[in-house]
This record gives sequence, C-alpha cells and structure tokens, in this order.
Amino acid sequence: MMDRNSPITQVKGIGAKTASLFEKLGVYTVGDILLHYPKTYLQFPKAKYVDEAVEEETAAVIGRIIKSPCVMRARNMPITVTAIGTLTQTIELIWFRMPYIKNQLNLGETYIFYGKIFNKKNKLTMEQPTIYTKEQYAAMEQSFLPVYGLTGGVSNNLITKTIRAVLREEHLFTEYLPSKIRDRYQLCEYNYAVKQIHFPDDMDTLITARKRLVFDEFFLFILDMQYQKEKRVKEINEFRFLEDHFTDELIAKLPFELTSAQIRALADIKRDMRGAYVMQRLIQGDVGSGKTIIAFLAMADTAHNGCQSAIMAPTEVLARQHYETFRALCEQFGIKIPIVLLTGSMTAKQKRMSYEALLLYQNAMVIGTHALIQEKAVYDNLALVITDEQHRFGVRQREVFAKKGSNPHILVMSATPIPRTLAIILYGDLDISVVDEVPKKRLPVKNCVVDTRFRPKAYEFIEKEVKDGHQAYIICPLVEETESIEAENATDYVKKLRTILPGDIALGILHGQMKPEQKNSVMESFLKNEIQVLVATTVVEVGVNVPNATVMMIENAERFGLAQLHQLRGRVGRGDAQSYCIMVNGSHSLTAERRLAILNESNDGFKIASEDLKLRGPGDFFGIRQSGDLQFALGDIYQDAYVLQQASDSVNCLLEEDPELENENNKNLRLHLHSYVTDDRRQMNL
Ligand code: ADP
Ligand code: MG
Repeated sequence: MMDRNSPITQVKGIGAKTASLFEKLGVYTVGDILLHYPKTYLQFPKAKYVDEAVEEETAAVIGRIIKSPCVMRARNMPITVTAIGTLTQTIELIWFRMPYIKNQLNLGETYIFYGKIFNKKNKLTMEQPTIYTKEQYAAMEQSFLPVYGLTGGVSNNLITKTIRAVLREEHLFTEYLPSKIRDRYQLCEYNYAVKQIHFPDDMDTLITARKRLVFDEFFLFILDMQYQKEKRVKEINEFRFLEDHFTDELIAKLPFELTSAQIRALADIKRDMRGAYVMQRLIQGDVGSGKTIIAFLAMADTAHNGCQSAIMAPTEVLARQHYETFRALCEQFGIKIPIVLLTGSMTAKQKRMSYEALLLYQNAMVIGTHALIQEKAVYDNLALVITDEQHRFGVRQREVFAKKGSNPHILVMSATPIPRTLAIILYGDLDISVVDEVPKKRLPVKNCVVDTRFRPKAYEFIEKEVKDGHQAYIICPLVEETESIEAENATDYVKKLRTILPGDIALGILHGQMKPEQKNSVMESFLKNEIQVLVATTVVEVGVNVPNATVMMIENAERFGLAQLHQLRGRVGRGDAQSYCIMVNGSHSLTAERRLAILNESNDGFKIASEDLKLRGPGDFFGIRQSGDLQFALGDIYQDAYVLQQASDSVNCLLEEDPELENENNKNLRLHLHSYVTDDRRQMNL
C-alpha cells in the first residue's frame, strides 16, 4: 500500500537514479510529488483563420490545403511542402525529413496546424507544424496540460507520468479540514483538489481545486503560527542596553543624512531593545529605501552594549556584500567591532575559524547565509537576530535562528510591499515599522517599455553609459536554451552580445546554476567595475547593491511578475547618477503591455502591487504570480487576499473554540499540522 509518506521509489518505474534527480526538486515522497504543483498549464489556443495569422506568433491556424503536397529534396533531405489559405492570404507549410506527411494531407480539405509562424522571404511560413483534424483539435482545446518546474534530467513528461501513476491510488490523503470550515467557505474535498490541480477537467474544476489548496496553504501557515501558545506570550527582555548617544554619534559621521523614515525605524528598534519585552519587529521598506544601514546601526548598538548580533541574508552574494559594507562602515566610524562572516561556500578551515570567533567575541557582528542557523554555529551572548529579505525565508527558519540565542531581539526586513491589513495576518506576531521614503538626492529611474526591435538602440545606449564610467545589467528569464519555453537565455545572450559590443567592454554572466564561489567572484568583479555589463538571471534580484550601475535592461519583461520587475529595477538608481530601466516586451500580448505600463508610470512598490491587482481581478490566476517569492506554492497574497482573510478568520474561530485542537472533530487537523511542520523542517534541512 502506498501512502503519502512512501518513498518515491515505490512508484512503478522510479529507480534510485530517478529518485536522486527528484531530490533536487525537493521531492522525496509520494506526497511531495503531489504537492509539486504545475507552474502553469498549456492550453491550446482557439484556432485562427489564415488571414488572422501574425508573424512571430505560435498559433493554431485553420485552413484549406490549396497546393498539392509535394516532397522536394535539398542535399538529400526530403522536404514536404504545401500551403493553406485563401486568395488574399496564404501560409506555406514545411516539414523536414517527414516525407510521409504528404500522404496525410489531401488537397481541398481543411485541417488545423499548430506551430510558430515566421516570415520567410516575405511569405508567412510554418515549419514542422503539428497536424490536427477539426475534431481532434476540438477535443484538445478543452484540455489543460500541466507544466511543471523542472531540473536537469527530469522532464515534464516524467513528472506528468509519475503523478498520473500516483493518482491512480485512491485517497492518498485524509481530509483534515473540519467540515464546518469546508461548508462555510465551500471548499472541495482535498483528494479531489489535488487531482484536479494536476489534471483539471475544465476551467471550473481548476478554479475550485485551486481555491481549496490556496486556502489550505494560508490556513496551515496561520494556524502553525498561532497554535503554539508560548509564541503568543511576550518574552521578558533580559538584556540591559545603555541609554546613551552612541548611534547618534555614528549617524553624525555618515556621508549622507538619514531620511526621517529611517530615523523613525531606528528609534522604534532602539526603544524596543530597551523595553520590558524582547523586540519582534518587521521593517518594511521599498527597494532602495536604505534598510541596510538601519540593520547596521542596530547591530552596532548591540555590540556597543557588549552583545552579539547576527544578520542572515538569502544569498551568498548579498551576505558578502553586507560583510564588505559593514567592514567599511566600521573603518569609517573608527570603531573596533569584530565582524564575522559565515557562509556555505567557505572552506572547512574558514568556517572553523568563524565558529571559533563566535565563541571568542561576545560583541561580534555576525553576517551570513543559512549557514548561520546550522547546528555547528554556536553563539555566545546573542542578543539580536536579523533576517534580511525575510520573504525569502520561512517562518521556521526565523524560529531556528531565534533559538540560537536565549530570547534574542528579532528584527526582520522585507521589501515586499504588503498592505498593512495583510501584513498583520502574515506576520501576526510582529510589530511593524514602515520605511516609506527614499533618500532625497536620488533621481527617480527613467523607464521605457519597448519591443525587440529597439535592441540595437539599447545596446548603443549601454555602450554610451559604459563609456561614461557606468555599468549595466541585462536580465534574461532563462539560464540556457529550453525547448518548451521561448525566451531569452543568458548563456546565448552573452555570446551574442560579445559580437555586438566593442571588445574593451567586459561582459560577465551570473545565474543560479553557477557554484557559489563562481557567483561571488563574478559579483565582486562587477562591484569593482572589472565587468561593465552583467548578463544575469533573477539571481541579482534580491538586495544587490552596485550604485555605479545605471542601466537595467530586462528581456522578456512580460514573463516576470510586477513585484519582481520592481525588485529588478531597484538594482539601479542607487547612486547619484540618473538611471534607466529598459523593459523589453518579447510578446505581442496587449495584457502584457498594459501591465508593463503600470511599471513604466510608477516607481512606487505599493502602488504597483495594487494597480496590478486592479488590472487582473481576483479570478485571473493564469497571470504571473505577483509574490512568487513568498513561501506559498500556489497562493498569491495580493490576488488571493480574500482567501487569506477567510483563512485567518477560520483559524481565529477554530482556536477560540478549541485552543489545543483536542476536540475529536479536529483530530485529523492536528495530525496534519504535525506532518506539515515536519515536512517543512525536512524541506528546509533543519
Ligand atoms: P534596501 O532598502 O533596498 O536594502 P540599501 O540599504 O541597500 O537599500 O541602500 C541602498 C543605497 O542607498 C546604499 O548604497 C546606501 O548606502 C544608500 N543610502 C541609504 N540610506 C541613505 C540616505 N539616507 N541617503 C543617501 N543614501 C542612502
Ligand atoms: Mg536590502
């Protein structure tokens, strides 16, 4: 018998080798693969008539064969040629090495052809289109084909097959939501939802399934946060910090003036750390609002009071950057505080030295990645823990981090613009300071949305900026060419760019599949301006600070969520020089154009999120996920804000009636919550 905890190797056809590939996707058990939801679905478009066809578009075209199919030969390769259309417009159809196609098509008959349309020598042409009869296509049009997140060696087909095999088992999951809640919000049964999210019967069932699973995500998240009573109790502040002017003296030495929002946030923190209870605070501030210096001052304040502090960043690149910034600041201020770096890519020896430093210096400022919360990192006198870019971490990681000390102060920083009402639900236990101001002197980024024909001009512009001493980022959605997705990839892009830009401009490449050391060294070269143009994937999105960079060019901008684009754009406009963001819309979609226009017109993260929502409406979930980096697999806190509210209300109701989940009706829920927590720990390697 297979159940949700069975290892994935129990599925027929999955051996140890495939299982190890699945591990890279975080899939170990049968349950894991079912929770590997599709990223999107392929739906066959409505067939177009020949005179509606547009070049550069992938489409299904319905047409009558008007030219007898014939097979020609070029260098011994058979090429089947025919055409569809009317008197006014025709499309040539070509197949290579498929001579048998000739016999499948009859002159005068109508078929549907699916493929990309090119302009070849001034004729609309489709190469290797797939052929359907009208009936076949009508059947296809109804279906949704799941598209999954992949990794090397694991194809969409393999995942699809595996999930189909698993779903043949009936009822892998026990329904755990109390029927009262299911009734109130009209949520479908859990196993049904899981089946339908992978292979929906139609749009309606997909919507129903998704609603249930999104509800579950939010519900469990909030329940997990609220359930354990001790977390609802405030901890007594055992640290004794001095009332003095230490941070004011540092601030006076800064080369810039803090914004009043920064001053307010810092005052909140300093007050909290001297209060009766331990601090639990969220600093929310748009990209570029200057959160790092706030973190630094809080940590310096802690060191000045003889205690340790630690800041955890989601990437190596960002951790190293903070380390360099903090060192430079200490030097500038002429203060001697031990600064310790701890990241995963350091050698065993380097790590050992850092561990020793943690035990040696009671007032160290520690900077690092996830390595900070691994077992080997033991602190002494840890009084403040900070997570930068909190939305990249789970609540669980924040907890483990806090356990590294004895009730330390907790500060989390996030650039995700979340309306206050939602923030209170999502960060239930935290006080909030909003940094709603960017430094005065800064010039707003100039934006433009263009199509691919603009590229030569963009390259010229980048060349000019580089000649003026500046630097540029170019973002591609993909690392390398992928057959199923038509979008620019960084690997080929950098090669192409090499043939276009003059040889004295140094190019670099940065993407998630590179080793941490490689990433660090590329980022360091970019920071030192040894690389002038950096072609990258979204790895640069979080927190990176290279104030000398003035151009952000984003290829296939239509493929990114607006929040993500806003984050990317936040990588420029960080210095005194005028900066530019060039968004290349690689599609012909009007919706994409309208969405990008929002970004074009505003540099304000909060405004962008709410405008985007208005444009899309709550039913539109094929759109790109706005908050893809908050830890929910399906739920989007903006789009699904009303579900979030429902989940929050349900949790409150439930815990009011049955705070310990002891009631027999809630037994399954309690068990499920337990495995939710265990799975979460396993996924996060804790
Ligand atoms: P974020 O809030 O996105 O983390 P950072 O802390 O990285 O932003 O700050 C972005 C840049 O702005 C840094 O180069 C930082 O030194 C600079 N900066 C921060 N505060 C101010 C200020 N008040 N005036 C001018 N520049 C500032
Ligand atoms: Mg930052």
